[in-house]
Amino acid sequence: MISIAEALAILKDNIPDPTKVACPLEQALGRYLAEDVHAPEPSPRFTNSAMDGYAVRWADVCDTTPNHPASLTLIGESRAGAPFAGTVGAGQAVLISTGAMLPAGADTVIRVEDTEEAGRNVMVSAAKRLGQDVRHRGEEFASNDLLLRKGTRIAAPQAALLAAIGIDQVMVFAPCTVALLVTGSELVASGSVVADHQIRDSNMIMLRAAVQESGATLLSCARITDDRQATTTAIGQATADIILCTGGVSVGRHDHVKEAAEANGFTPLFWQIRQKPGKPLYLARKGKTILFGLPGNPVSAFMCFTYYVRPLIGALIGLPFGWPTMFAKAVEEIVNKVSRPNMLRVRIAQNPDNDHMITSAKRQGSHMLTSLVDSDGYIILEPGQTLHAGERVLVYSYDFR
Ligand code: AMP
Ligand code: MG
Repeated sequence: MISIAEALAILKDNIPDPTKVACPLEQALGRYLAEDVHAPEPSPRFTNSAMDGYAVRWADVCDTTPNHPASLTLIGESRAGAPFAGTVGAGQAVLISTGAMLPAGADTVIRVEDTEEAGRNVMVSAAKRLGQDVRHRGEEFASNDLLLRKGTRIAAPQAALLAAIGIDQVMVFAPCTVALLVTGSELVASGSVVADHQIRDSNMIMLRAAVQESGATLLSCARITDDRQATTTAIGQATADIILCTGGVSVGRHDHVKEAAEANGFTPLFWQIRQKPGKPLYLARKGKTILFGLPGNPVSAFMCFTYYVRPLIGALIGLPFGWPTMFAKAVEEIVNKVSRPNMLRVRIAQNPDNDHMITSAKRQGSHMLTSLVDSDGYIILEPGQTLHAGERVLVYSYDFR
């Protein structure tokens, strides 16, 4: 048996390089940039007005006060999408809209509220400073400035920025694909008739949901009996970045996942970790494909998924290998009474000072799904370790969004 740290080290050593693909921007939402993005042009691209008002020359309005307004001759208009073609000369003004190009000759914008039109003239009653309400070309960023770093998730603001600078195709990390294989002769689909000796399959829907929440794409999903040949065939047919098996990795006579993986040319990387739950976890590799043999117990399967599989999915779509974690204080004493490091499920709450506070889920059995629904994350305590009330501890959250 190996330690949790050794298992993590082996897993990290075997992360295949994520694949980069060119992707149209509309399809890149939720994906992660595989390259830095530099500005191909400055922003704004042209000097424009920040306000609806009049484009003027500062020299003509600098002495203006409400009692001594400046009178300027209106010579035209610059609208958004329809710039003024001429030049603003001494004593002249051009009506201008927000975002419209500042005409040649003008250096300042007077907002509508500080003006009054009188026939072909405009009276300016207040002017604060040279260049007021002008947005200068390049004032936000210049050509070649670094705008988005590799690894950035493309959400609405990032997509908008890319569109604004004319980038309609980006290099992103390819989606990570998963094939799910649920094993167990005792299993029946939830919703169908269940005999006394049978178990409803809850791992399939749980792992499906977990795969989707992690940002991976589920390519296939199958349920098979504890049969050596069926398991070998099913693993042989699965093609994905990650093959996720559940059940059949313990020491029982009807546990076939390890042999079936190896019969298909997978090299075992580890089996059995000094941890609770999830001791029988199995890891193997064939080329760029990683195979996990998760234990069949639903809680063990979920905990192994959240601690080992999720960070791998993250790494394959371009995120750093890791977990969403926080420090929290124990509300009451929590003890690990078992002789292995224990991933104890905890409820996370916030007290009025915004400190995260944890309480242990009442039920901790590996076969008790209520231990998962009654918790938001977990802590890892060493054998015999006692966490005292008020003590701070690292908490791993289930929430990967
Ligand atoms: P195994 O790891 O195959 O020895 O299974 C361990 C325990 O988990 C057994 O009690 C199984 O009945 C149960 N189990 C295995 N697979 C599933 C599943 N897909 N859904 C619910 N329980 C399961
Ligand atoms: Mg089984």
